[in-house]
Amino acid sequence: MVLDSFRLDGRVALVTGGNRGIGQALAIALAQAGADVALLGRTRPAETVARVAALGRRALAVPVDLATAGPDDLAGAVSRAADELGRLDILVNNAGIIRRSAAVAHPPEDWAAVLRVDLDAVFQLCQGAGRIMLSQRHGKIVNVASMLSYQGGIRVPSYAAAKHAVVGLTRALANEWAATGVNVNAIAPGYIATDNTAPLRADADREAAIRERIPAGRWGVPDDLTGAVVFLASDAARYVHGAVLAVDGGWLAR
Ligand code: NAP
Repeated sequence: MVLDSFRLDGRVALVTGGNRGIGQALAIALAQAGADVALLGRTRPAETVARVAALGRRALAVPVDLATAGPDDLAGAVSRAADELGRLDILVNNAGIIRRSAAVAHPPEDWAAVLRVDLDAVFQLCQGAGRIMLSQRHGKIVNVASMLSYQGGIRVPSYAAAKHAVVGLTRALANEWAATGVNVNAIAPGYIATDNTAPLRADADREAAIRERIPAGRWGVPDDLTGAVVFLASDAARYVHGAVLAVDGGWLAR
């Protein structure tokens, strides 16, 4: 039955940045669908661990700072998750940062930090997971893109560059890996109420300008993204490769 193909019972997912915001909602949704979850991040994800455990699923915290971890550290973290939870079926590259300043004044350290966390780490985690998934001939990778994978945004040049690149990377990996049973796709969230967008929502004029441009008439919340991640992580998406699923209240349609 079709709804059974959305179930994730017995699967293991690795989610980055699952301690708060969108990543927390995605991790809990994967657990609700049946998956055990490894939470890779730099902050102890105590609340998410407790909420996954309350669903009867296993939760494993994998402490890693994506700003400083190198490719070997990330490959090691992926292997550790797979070893401790017994397998690896799903990778969700969610963790991300944003630095806001005018392009001419954008500090080189902000450029480097954003590219490191939002792009380099995504690629290196895909490599680590890909080695496992290609050898077992199945796996699902879901990268978190952005509206700024399509648009330039305002005063966020490093973020726009990184998020455009995440889509290119998603398509490149999908082309290489689809025939081996590994699905690589992305979710592009619209404007979602999290810490990431707190400065936008604190500016009343900017908040209103954004809200009024969203056809759905409201900001998104992290739970708005949960159906998309479960779908892309499941057998229901078995023939979906290299797609970018916008969950944006209609922002891109306008
Ligand atoms: P958030 O609330 O700021 O959460 C960001 C997450 O990334 C946190 O878990 C954070 O961990 C983690 N992270 C940041 N730097 C890290 C590092 N060096 N090492 C490990 N983990 C790190 O943001 P969010 O809105 O949930 O964003 C999640 C993803 O969605 C990001 O990729 C973002 O670009 C994307 N996105 C968000 C929106 C939106 O409107 N909110 C729209 C489009 C795309 P700590 O708690 O330890 O900092």
